[in-house]
Amino acid sequence: MTEEKSVSKEYKLDPDCELRFEIESKNEKTVVELKAGQAEVFGTELVKGKKYEFGSGAKIAVYSWQGCTLDLIGKPDVIYIAKETPMSIYLNVHAAMERMREAAEKSNDVKGPITMVVGPNDVGKSTLSRILLNYAVRIGRRPIFVDLDVGQGQIAIPGTMSALLVERPSNIVEGFSQQAPLVFHYGQKTPSANTTLYNLLVSRLAEVCSERLQGNKKARASGIIINTCGWINGEGYKLLTHAAQALEVDAILVLDQERLYNELVRDMPEFVKVVFLPKSGGVVSRSQQFRIESRDQKVREYFYGIKTPLYPHNIDIKWSDAKIYKIGAPVLPASCMPLGMKAEDNLTKLVAVTPGPNLLHHLLSVSFADSPEDDVVQTNVAGFVCVTKVDVDKQTITVLSPQPKLLPNSVLLLSDIQFMDSN
Ligand code: ADP
Repeated sequence: MTEEKSVSKEYKLDPDCELRFEIESKNEKTVVELKAGQAEVFGTELVKGKKYEFGSGAKIAVYSWQGCTLDLIGKPDVIYIAKETPMSIYLNVHAAMERMREAAEKSNDVKGPITMVVGPNDVGKSTLSRILLNYAVRIGRRPIFVDLDVGQGQIAIPGTMSALLVERPSNIVEGFSQQAPLVFHYGQKTPSANTTLYNLLVSRLAEVCSERLQGNKKARASGIIINTCGWINGEGYKLLTHAAQALEVDAILVLDQERLYNELVRDMPEFVKVVFLPKSGGVVSRSQQFRIESRDQKVREYFYGIKTPLYPHNIDIKWSDAKIYKIGAPVLPASCMPLGMKAEDNLTKLVAVTPGPNLLHHLLSVSFADSPEDDVVQTNVAGFVCVTKVDVDKQTITVLSPQPKLLPNSVLLLSDIQFMDSN
C-alpha cells in the first residue's frame, strides 16, 4: 500500500445495509475496523476494535443488522453502501432450517436439513453457503459443509471435492478453517472433464457424510449444506439432480435462475422443497482470468499459508520409487473392452503414470490408500504436493510438500491442475 493511498475514512451504516468493496489492484490492501455497533462479513461477526486486512482480489460486504460505524483504511477500487440486500430473506431461510433442526433434535431418526445451493456462476452460491453455515454454527450447531465446486472450492485446493464438519464461524479473511477436511481427488477443474468420476465421488462423499451423521447426534440434527458448481445446463443439470439424490437433500435453494427453479420443481420428488432466492446485487462477476488467479491463490495459500506463513519442503523422489497414478483411461469402443466391463469403467480406472518432464508443475494428491491395489479412487487424500523440478539425467522429480517427508509407499494421484511456484 503506497503512502498517498492510505486514506482512512469513517462509514456509518444504517440497519440492514452493507458496505461493499472490491480490491483489484495488485499489492493494494484495505483494513476494516468496527468502531461501534454490530457488523458481519458473510455471516461472521466482526470483533469491535480488531483490524481486518483484505488483499487484492477481495470482494467483500460488511453487513449490519442494527447499524454500525466502520473505519476503513485503504483505497479499494470499488466502494459503496448498499441499502437493498437479500439478507433478511437469507435469514428467513436460516430460520426455516433451524425449525427443522429443532424437530430433528427431538427425534432419533429424523435428520437435520440437507440443503443444496444451486445456480449459475457468480450468483453468490458459495457466499450463501458460508452465511448459512455461519448462522448455524453461531447458535451452537455443527453442520457439515460439502463443497462440490471442483473449480473454486472453499475447503481444499481446486480439483478436489470435500466435506468439513464446521465447528466455528469462518475466519473473516481466511474463510473456513482447513482442519481435518475429508477430501477426494478429482484432478480436473471442471465437472465436464469426467462426469462419471464426478458422480462416483459425489456418491462416495454422500456415503461418508451419511455415516458421520449416523455417528454424531449433534451433526445429525445440524444437517448438511452443499455448495455446487455453476454448470446447470444439459449434463450439468443431471449432475445436480444426481447429487440431490445421492446426498438425500430435502431442500434446494436456487439462486437467480427461474428456469433452473422450474426444472427442479418439475423433476424433484414432492418431499424436496425447491426455493427460489434472489441474488445479492453485490455479487461480482469474475472473469476467466480472475478464476485462474484465484485457483492459483488457493494453491499458494495451501503451501505458503495466508496470514501465518508456512514453510514447505522440497523433497526429491526417484522415478523408480514414485508411485504416480492418474484416474481415467481413454474410453475405448465397447467392442474393445474386456468381457463384463462397460466403456465408462475406463473413466474411473487407476492408470500408472511414467514419471517424466510432463509432470512439471502438476499437483499430486497424496492418497490415504496404502497401496495401488486398494480402492484408491474412492479413498480420501491426506494432502498435496507440487512437482517443481524434473531431472531427466538423475531420473528424479522434486516436489514441494507441506510435510518434510512422504511415506515410502505413498500413492500419488496426478492432477490436471498446474501451479507455478514463484516463491
Ligand atoms: P458463486 O459461488 O455463485 O460463483 P460467490 O459466492 O463465489 O459466487 O460470489 C462471487 C463473488 O462475489 C465473491 O468474490 C464474493 O466474495 C462476492 N460477493 C458475494 N456477495 C457479495 C456482496 N453482497 N457484496 C460484495 N461482494 C459479494
